[in-house]
Amino acid sequence: MSSHDRLAELTARLAAIHDLDKVVSLLLWDQDVMMPRGGAAARAEQVATLRRLAHEQFTAPETGRLLDELAPYAAQLPADSNEASLIRVARRDFDKARRVPADLRAEMSRTASLARAAWVDARAASDFPAFLPFLQKTIDLKRRYIECFEPTAEPYDVLLDDFEEGMTAADVRAVFEPFKQQIVPLIAAVAPVADRVSDGCLHGAFPVDRQREFCLSVVRRFGFTDEQWRLDPTVHPFETSLSVADIRITTRYYPDFLSPALFGIMHECGHGLYEQGIDPSLERTPLCRGASLGLHESQSRLWENLVGRSRAAWTFFYPALQRTFPDRLDGVDLETFYRAINKVEPSLIRVEADELTYGLHVILRFELEQEMIGGSLPLAELPDAWNARMKAYLGVDVPDAAKGVLQDVHWSLGFVGYFPTYTIGSIMSAQIWQSALADLPDLSEQFARGEFLALRHWLRDHLHRYGRKFTPRETLEKAAGTTAIDAGPYVAYLRAKFHDIYELG
Ligand code: ZN
Repeated sequence: MSSHDRLAELTARLAAIHDLDKVVSLLLWDQDVMMPRGGAAARAEQVATLRRLAHEQFTAPETGRLLDELAPYAAQLPADSNEASLIRVARRDFDKARRVPADLRAEMSRTASLARAAWVDARAASDFPAFLPFLQKTIDLKRRYIECFEPTAEPYDVLLDDFEEGMTAADVRAVFEPFKQQIVPLIAAVAPVADRVSDGCLHGAFPVDRQREFCLSVVRRFGFTDEQWRLDPTVHPFETSLSVADIRITTRYYPDFLSPALFGIMHECGHGLYEQGIDPSLERTPLCRGASLGLHESQSRLWENLVGRSRAAWTFFYPALQRTFPDRLDGVDLETFYRAINKVEPSLIRVEADELTYGLHVILRFELEQEMIGGSLPLAELPDAWNARMKAYLGVDVPDAAKGVLQDVHWSLGFVGYFPTYTIGSIMSAQIWQSALADLPDLSEQFARGEFLALRHWLRDHLHRYGRKFTPRETLEKAAGTTAIDAGPYVAYLRAKFHDIYELG
């Protein structure tokens, strides 16, 4: 068999696996958007079956044989070619997937189902002890998972690599520590003058149908089209794509509060633009997705915050928003609205946090995860450790476990090492923004005229189109001109923005 034939065979094999993955995505989208509750049990089986088939296909000895045989061929190809990238990425995924025995995988998946159900009840009852045995089991399984891999500097590194390839706990600390040291005093500086900004204008009657129409008019300017996108309501918003020409975003509307859907839709649109911007030649391969969770989040945050919460964008959008909700906004000027959407308020819940305090919610989780995996924090003491850090970083008192340690679903699902990617994403968004601004210095003027496509094209050219061909660091270098994740631009952006809004002088 020639190398060409072998590559064709590998490509066909990976394409079929990709199809199975995308069918799973469709089933999950349907589950959260369309499915009647009665479908839940059967849907869980359907998803598990397809995932098992995909995993078996991928880890089959045949995949390994093709990858072995193609290694010399790949070495002769340009490293940035689609073919060499496909072989390289598939090899890495294959080696990782093969290390974890099927029985451990099955136990992790079973435990996640049980722990998630237990978490739902425990959170409703604000009862951490009820969740504790499930958390213990999850952490024990994580330790067994870590043992499947070559020893790393810290055990946590193995978990992090699943979400942010190539990054270690030490790397993250080196970014987060200086970030934390600069953000905590900035939050403290805002506290005594918190009443300079009110978000009262965002609360009140905002009929959902009009919210939807207005939000659509915004994301259409960013690149949403009826031909290739859908927007649907759901309980926990997310973005998923079935192909580069079929992007699904979801949101949750509050009839008495404008912000969640408005900025949530911009956020999910940012994720969708990344998926849509991937070069179509990568379709139906493992390269047809974002390079990492952090880079994906950099795109959602960029559109939500750097664009969506900017004065320039609202210079254009605000008159239309006032016409949409005249009862609420007729007497509210642009500057009052701009400040309202950027109000800083240390609070208990991560997903409701403002741009300035959000990072500390993440850093707290990152610190606690390392201590849980490392064994220095007994799990029974987790709520106390959580509450103490919420007080130290954000100055807030946690009233109960539901509004504290039980608020997020991640740990119940076994997602340990996921949280840091949110703030890594925010930090990278400012680096990428700086680079875009160097090429497109009049972005603000463009936004004020309602023009957002130059930015979108820049992001496609410098980031989106590569999909997962390169490592996250290599991909960052193409977009931001450096492989180093650096909180500097993000801190400078936050400092300038909130000094201005709160008149800190
Ligand atoms: Zn996101």
